[in-house]
Order: sequence, then C-alpha cells, then structure tokens
Amino acid sequence: MQDISSLKRNAWMEVNLAAIRHNVRTIKSLMAPTCKLMAIVKADAYGHGAGVCARAMASAGAQQFGVATVQEALELRQSGIAQPIVLLSEPPVETIDLLLENDIMPGVTSSEFVLAYGECAIAHDMVGKYHLALDTGMTRIGIPAEDAVEFRRLVDFHRGIVCAGTYTHFATADTIGDWDFRRQVQRFTDAIRALHEAKLYPGIVHCDNTAATMLYPDIQFDMCRVGIALYGIHPAESTVELAELEPAMSIRARITRVANPRIGDGVSYGMTYRVNTPYMQIATIPIGYADGLSRSLSGEMDVLVHGRRARQVGRICMDQCMFAYPLRSMTSSTMAPELAVGDVVTIMGSDKDEYISADEIGQLRHTIAYEVLCNFSARLERVYVS
Ligand SMILES: *Cc1c(COP(=O)(O)O)cnc(C)c1O
Repeated sequence: MQDISSLKRNAWMEVNLAAIRHNVRTIKSLMAPTCKLMAIVKADAYGHGAGVCARAMASAGAQQFGVATVQEALELRQSGIAQPIVLLSEPPVETIDLLLENDIMPGVTSSEFVLAYGECAIAHDMVGKYHLALDTGMTRIGIPAEDAVEFRRLVDFHRGIVCAGTYTHFATADTIGDWDFRRQVQRFTDAIRALHEAKLYPGIVHCDNTAATMLYPDIQFDMCRVGIALYGIHPAESTVELAELEPAMSIRARITRVANPRIGDGVSYGMTYRVNTPYMQIATIPIGYADGLSRSLSGEMDVLVHGRRARQVGRICMDQCMFAYPLRSMTSSTMAPELAVGDVVTIMGSDKDEYISADEIGQLRHTIAYEVLCNFSARLERVYVS
C-alpha cells in the first residue's frame, strides 16, 4: 500500500479503511442477521478504489459485491475477490464468455440475452447464474414486474441457465412515507409471491439501496445492496439520525507557492478575483478540475489550512487553483502565522476542529455527494490508511 512519502504529486486522496470497515459493521447492525449485505463498489467503489475497498468490506462482513460494468467485475476478480459478483444491469452479449469464465452474474432484462447466455454456458459445459431485474416503477431497467412469471416460463426450459436472484430498484426510498415507494414495494412483493405460487424459485430476493435499508428495516428480503453508506455518507437528510457513519475519503494537497500580492492584483484566468485587503496571502495548490474539483466551485468553496477555513479564489484551473489567506483578520490585530510551501491543505475532510464534507461541496455544485466522490477518482493517487 502507498504511503504519503512515495506520492508522485503534491495532491492526493486519502481513504480510511478503518472507516469503511466501521460503516460495514454499522449497516449490518441495522439488518436482520440472516439478510446478506451486497456491497456496491461500482465506479471504482464510488471513487475510493474498488479492489482495496472490497477486500476491507469483505473482512468486515460484506457477502456479495455489486458493480455496473464487466470491466469493474473483472478488476474485482483480479484483486482476489472470490465472493459472488452481480452486474447491476445487462451487459453486451459479446461479454458473455468473460462472464462465465470469471463467474460474474449478469443482471438480466431480456430473453434474448439470457438465452444467448444459456447457449454459451452449455457450450462450456456450465450453468450460467443470473439475477432477473424487475421494473416496479422507476422506469430505468428490468422487465415489467407483472411479467415476471411469464418471462420465467418463457426461458426456464433452458438447461444452461439458473435464476440466482430477483431484484428491483427504488426511485424514492429516501423520502419517508412516499406513495411511489410503497407502490414499488407492493409491485415487487406481488411479483415475488406470484413466482413462488408458480413454483418458479426467484433465488436471492433483493431491493434495498442504502436509504431503504436504513429507513425500512421491515422490508429487507434476503439481501440489501448498500453503496453510499459504506463510504460514510448519508443518502439523504432522513437517515442522518439512524446511524453514525464515518466518511472514508479525504482530499489533500501541499502548498506549492505562496505569494504576497499588492492590492488590486488579479488571480487566475480572467482575473475574476482581485486582492482587496492588505496582508492577504495567495497560495497555490496543485489540484484542479481534471482531478474532479469542478470548475463550477470557483470562488465559492473553502479549503482548510492550519485548522482554519480559507476561501478558494479565482477560477479553478485544470491542474491547480489558488486560495486567499488573510494574515490579519477584521476582528483581531494579531497576525496569523504565514503560510509556507509544503503546508498541507484539506479540500475535503477534517483539519483539527474544522470539516468540509462531500455534501457541502455537492451543494455548492448543485449536485449530490455521490458525484463529488466519483469525480475525485479522475486522476488523484490514493493513499490508504488503516
Ligand atoms: C448504485 C446502486 C445501489 C446502491 O445505492 P446507494 O444509494 O449508494 O446505496 C443499489 N442498487 C442499484 C441497482 C444501484 O444501481
């Protein structure tokens, strides 16, 4: 594992594996003991690095893994993950050989795919396991829930396939008491019951994302698919009081330059910011929008340095940005210590008593913490701490 001294850049992502293990155990404590935890590690574990994180999650009790692409599934196998892996949607038919060779279960949404999968399995003298996706109202993927029995009757003749799971996904699980959520649960429950009545075994039944797992412990079926909470972030305001989660990702950089400009001097492209007070230092850090620090944050976000907030100023560049550090505050005549090249700056995470969350950055960008986390994986090297 990488430590800070071996980094090739003065900007990096820190991933706290102890926090991830804590979050896995916390979520499991909210689940029925017989209910399995599928850790969702798509998009390189929401930007945290899938291989290392999946191993930490497995050690803390995650039983299965969910990913979005075949490439992501292969990376998990290459990093030694032996647990069941489910692709959350149907991949191209061309990938079927890879799925069978690497024991990756596809999410299935068409009879054409699952029959091609079965043919290929027979050619390899295997049986291909799959999970059937049902659309219960989100209108994203899956066959209409009402057609589950008909679908299974159509494909079950094939001896090269077996249904290892049946699932759906909720659109509004984070809104307490939502009518659409209850309707999705009803359609899913009806479909599962119909399968049982037709003696068509549904396999492992699963529907809950983080929000549903936390807010509706009474509808957990056989497995919960939890993503965001394992990285220490709440999916919505509504879950905050239900568990103590520990954010795993921090983003840090070292100052590469400190300037003492004159009043009126401009900063960065377009000079949208001009120094307007005496004793203002402008420091440069080598992290920019190509690292996931969106340009739309320019002039809006804070960073932490020496345990204090400082405002990022001027446009965020592709590889660098600047922040302003007043040596003398409005309220006090004492001078703050000057900044120095090499000082550590926190873009996300904690520094002494101050904290900048993924939610704070997401709000400034008019997006959600999920996207903020994923974006930071673009180019930053990761340092894992355990
Ligand atoms: C991403 C995803 C999840 C996990 O959602 P979180 O809100 O991060 O828990 C679960 N199921 C499916 C199908 C998903 O695409």
